[in-house]
Amino acid sequence: MAGSTYWSQRGVATRGTGTLASYAGTVALGSWASSEAVRASMRANRSRDTTPEIALRRALHRRGLRYRVNMRPIKAVRRTADVVFPRCKIAVFVDGCFWHGCPDHYRAPSTNEGYWAAKLSRNVARDAQVNGLLRDHGWTVVRVWEHEPLEQAVARVVLAVRSVSGNDVASASAP
Ligand SMILES: [Zn+2]
Repeated sequence: MAGSTYWSQRGVATRGTGTLASYAGTVALGSWASSEAVRASMRANRSRDTTPEIALRRALHRRGLRYRVNMRPIKAVRRTADVVFPRCKIAVFVDGCFWHGCPDHYRAPSTNEGYWAAKLSRNVARDAQVNGLLRDHGWTVVRVWEHEPLEQAVARVVLAVRSVSGNDVASASAP
């Protein structure tokens, strides 16, 4: 499977498997991102088309929204957004709880602490930098945690699109 490549490339599989598996067990089951999705996300890091991303895209599509996926909002900013509304200049990122330091679910692995702490702080700093660069260029950034209820995530995206494009989003109200 594609997701295993990352870990084997980094050699993490031999160094911290048990810790990561136990982390996955702490994520709330039955949420939008099931523990399996979280595990897949952790394995694949920022790989494309994780389960939460696909769920969000499908829900947005059902609401009649049309968007681009996995594209750089701005070519000069080397960061791919998961869902992009180019005309509205809205970039949506689905952030994994582990990689982006979710306050509710991030647990520092107990092995290789320095490695993980440094990695997390780099990720968080990069998120902030990307947000700032996009906003400087007139973009609206919507960051969605993978643990968020799907309908809440959809509502936040719809709200952002509406606020930019007016009332031309049909059937966009949250249930
Ligand atoms: Zn979370």
